[in-house]
Amino acid sequence: MSGFKYCYGPVGSWRLGVSLGIDPVSQPEKVCNFDCVYCQLGHRLPCQPGRSVYVMPEDLGEELERIKAPADYLTFSGRGEPTMAANLTELRLECSRRRPEKIAVITNSGLMYSAKVREQLASFDFVVAKLDAPDGALFDAINRPGPGVYFREVVSGLVLFSKGCRGRLAIQTMLIGANKGRARDLARLYAEIGPDEVELNTPLRPCAEKPLPQPELEAISAEVSAELARLGAGKIKVVDVYRAGHPKVTPVSAPETLRRRGKI
Ligand code: SF4
Repeated sequence: MSGFKYCYGPVGSWRLGVSLGIDPVSQPEKVCNFDCVYCQLGHRLPCQPGRSVYVMPEDLGEELERIKAPADYLTFSGRGEPTMAANLTELRLECSRRRPEKIAVITNSGLMYSAKVREQLASFDFVVAKLDAPDGALFDAINRPGPGVYFREVVSGLVLFSKGCRGRLAIQTMLIGANKGRARDLARLYAEIGPDEVELNTPLRPCAEKPLPQPELEAISAEVSAELARLGAGKIKVVDVYRAGHPKVTPVSAPETLRRRGKI
């Protein structure tokens, strides 16, 4: 597949099965209001506040028409943060018009304080929202957010979003050396937010941070589950990247996939 600018994959995702990637930003450099220490897209100063239109719906639709590979989900992700695209709703509607699959979005939660962004995300079938830290100091150290993004507003935005979300909500946490000792503090926030599931990840793609080994991630997973049960939130499912498994898929756009994921 050549000449594709906005779609990549499909990839075998541990969270989403066969996932056809949609990049609503699609710029040469990443466009993100975070600069996470583990980012696989390279490091760059986070964006200034403000969203823009990067991709026209009809251009995305034309690419989708040319891709015949089936998928479990069309997943908004890519080279940066999907909510930086101001026309997220128009792009999602274009996907729905062209393809029958459910639509997911992977967000860093940085704009969850915005009622407009929460409203746009609420219409997705599955929202995977990042929360890597249980306090502002660690949030600043791991996610290195840009101006106008504050830890407490991210958490209160996630609590509000969980109440209004019409699809499925997962909170995903990337576990590295800096936050691995904070499982119980994170579990208290998961209980406050109340998602359908918690996804515990560790960086397995090439980046500056080392992944936690499987036994360590499994121990953290057990600690999170125990704390959720103690807090009366035991119905929140906890999954981790090692145990979930993922389907084997050959991308129809290998270069475009590598540009967004660092690994196929
Ligand atoms: S939110 Fe994602 S794209 Fe943005 S810096 Fe973090 S890892 Fe990279």
